[in-house]
Amino acid sequence: MNIEKNKSLKNYHTFRTEVETSFFFKLERKEDLTLFFEDNDISTSFLLLGEGSNVLFTKKFEGYILYMAAKGLEVLYEDENVCRIKVNAGENWDDFVKYCVENNLYGAENLSLIPGTAGAAPVQNIGAYGAEVKNLIVSTEVFDVKEKIFKEIDNQHCAFEYRSSIFKYPENKKRYIITSVLFELSKKRSFNLEYGALKNFAAERKHINLEDVRDEVIRIRKSKLPVPEEVPNAGSFFKNPVVSERSFQNLSAAYPELKGFPLSAEEKEYKLAAGQLIDLCGLKAYEYKGAAVHDKQALVIVNKNNASGQAILELSEYVKKQVFNKFGVKLVREVNIY
Ligand code: FAD
Ligand code: NAP
Repeated sequence: MNIEKNKSLKNYHTFRTEVETSFFFKLERKEDLTLFFEDNDISTSFLLLGEGSNVLFTKKFEGYILYMAAKGLEVLYEDENVCRIKVNAGENWDDFVKYCVENNLYGAENLSLIPGTAGAAPVQNIGAYGAEVKNLIVSTEVFDVKEKIFKEIDNQHCAFEYRSSIFKYPENKKRYIITSVLFELSKKRSFNLEYGALKNFAAERKHINLEDVRDEVIRIRKSKLPVPEEVPNAGSFFKNPVVSERSFQNLSAAYPELKGFPLSAEEKEYKLAAGQLIDLCGLKAYEYKGAAVHDKQALVIVNKNNASGQAILELSEYVKKQVFNKFGVKLVREVNIY
């Protein structure tokens, strides 16, 4: 078992800050997990890392980084309506989306170009442009660190919510390692083009195919979002806050430009756009110790000039405070801090 010591994580997370881990183990196959946990009693000091596109390290990681590199996918079932594909956790998410589009499988195209691994996709139920990955997941296979066995957890037991699942619960972070995900894609032509930016695109086109949608999503994303290879970042730093209808009405009276998306008529709740709240605090492009609020999308914090993880965290705390002082709305972090 090749365990590396005092290894730099700089190239293993998209904020690209200089930070070390005490131990580093690359998982090439899911069976490595059984071996690893037989030999090492480390149930409290490990972190499963995918492509590191949703994490921020603020200090040396004192423990074992288990780097998920088990790739590959396999079609397990297909008929004239659907196709079920088992994807190993270390497979790149966007390569899988590309595979679906190239094979005329519908459902994943709005989630094009989201960084990270397929194994991390269920963790925060990745979403974009009105689509969420929970709608494609049949089940996840996990290694249960407590019982040291592999298990299947079906979709209904994953407790998927907006940017959340059981895999995000603190008690499960040290328990479940996702080793593969079973997805079901549709073979029937159907698109989800209700989301603002895609609606305009759909209105302008007579005929649309899967590749058009993927290309458009990629085009929009590239025009607004910083590419981590060029400007290190971890995507949206905060979740979009949800407030009551009454709070939304009060806020709108004071700030008529405020965007609010009704979640459901019964619950009478509204989702606000966190990026707009930050922008209205005048923080777009605000810089602090090498970190900065992105100048095109204020929900993203970037490592502009050799910022430390601690500086990025401090900037995010400042942003949170300013938003609370102005709107009375508490922002909750989406990025995982270690
Ligand atoms: P990591 O960052 O390595 O890990 C994230 C968390 O998941 C960690 O707590 C880790 O322990 C856990 N984890 C990872 N793999 C596993 C596993 N196999 N088993 C158990 N736990 C695991 N997210 C969206 O939802 N929508 C977007 O549109 C979006 N856009 C983004 C754009 C940019 C530019 C960037 C940088 C990020 C964006 N993100 C988005 C966030 C990120 O891409 C997703 O959260 C992604 O799923 C993270 O994958 P990863 O492999 O990098 O996970
Ligand atoms: P955008 O299109 O400028 O929209 C701003 C915000 O308004 C988004 O957060 C979005 O919420 C919300 N919104 C817009 N139209 C909506 C509609 N018709 N119905 C409900 N909500 C609507 O956002 P963007 O920054 O360019 O991002 C585009 C998409 O990519 C979004 O879905 C966003 O979540 C996703 N994205 C996520 C990350 C991440 O790290 N999590 C990073 C980049 C982009 P939602 O976020 O809930 O969709």
